Amino acid sequence: MIKSTGILSTLLELKVNLSRAAGVCVACLGSSATDGLCDPCRSDLPTNHQACPICALPMPRPDLVCGDCLANPPPYARAIIPWRYQFPADAMIRCYKDRGQRQFLRPLVTALGAQLADLLHQDQLTKPDILVPAPMHRRRRMKRGFNQAQVIAEELGLRLNIPVASTLVRRQSHVDSQRGLDKGQRLKNLQKVFEVTADIPERIAIVDDVVTTGATVRTLSALLEAHGAREIQVWALARTPL
Ligand SMILES: [Zn+2]
Ligand SMILES: [Zn+2]
Repeated sequence: MIKSTGILSTLLELKVNLSRAAGVCVACLGSSATDGLCDPCRSDLPTNHQACPICALPMPRPDLVCGDCLANPPPYARAIIPWRYQFPADAMIRCYKDRGQRQFLRPLVTALGAQLADLLHQDQLTKPDILVPAPMHRRRRMKRGFNQAQVIAEELGLRLNIPVASTLVRRQSHVDSQRGLDKGQRLKNLQKVFEVTADIPERIAIVDDVVTTGATVRTLSALLEAHGAREIQVWALARTPL
């Protein structure tokens, strides 16, 4: 389990940084890890098996289409999101985003890559022509030092042999906060935000770390579709439950 507070987290940080040796679990520091996690910590990850088959919203039963997708189908065909944004997956993603500790991201990206490779191999998924990381505003990226969606897209692209188009869509204005806005207001807010900078291929997968309300990926998909994309997927690590 991850202990993410105070001295324990400092210790953990130190130890993980010192012992980058293969086999160390990023969560419990046990020595029997594969791809960064030991088996017990891996089984603690909140899998998103019971989810809407379209947008991957966590649901009480598998294969149940959510009310949102029924009432207003999204412009993308399908979202592949293997975890719920809950402990310890949320803590691992935050360790990466807040402190740049990439080793916490590795087990999640490796597993997503393996799942996607299986689905592609079994022809259950169309191979996209390109991966488009959800764009981050320049100012925000400079502050953080990286765009986590781009890092994830690059790792998946390497593994699956798909090019990454990180400058195809630009985030042109900064959205201060989406908090307190209803769904319609969020969408309106986002439509002003993205700009397409080049020709769009037919098949695209949008890559992000966490899908929260789904407003960003909906808006991005609508924009890519309007510019000629025919089949859009969403690939992300975790989905926030309602
Ligand atoms: Zn462990
Ligand atoms: Zn849905």
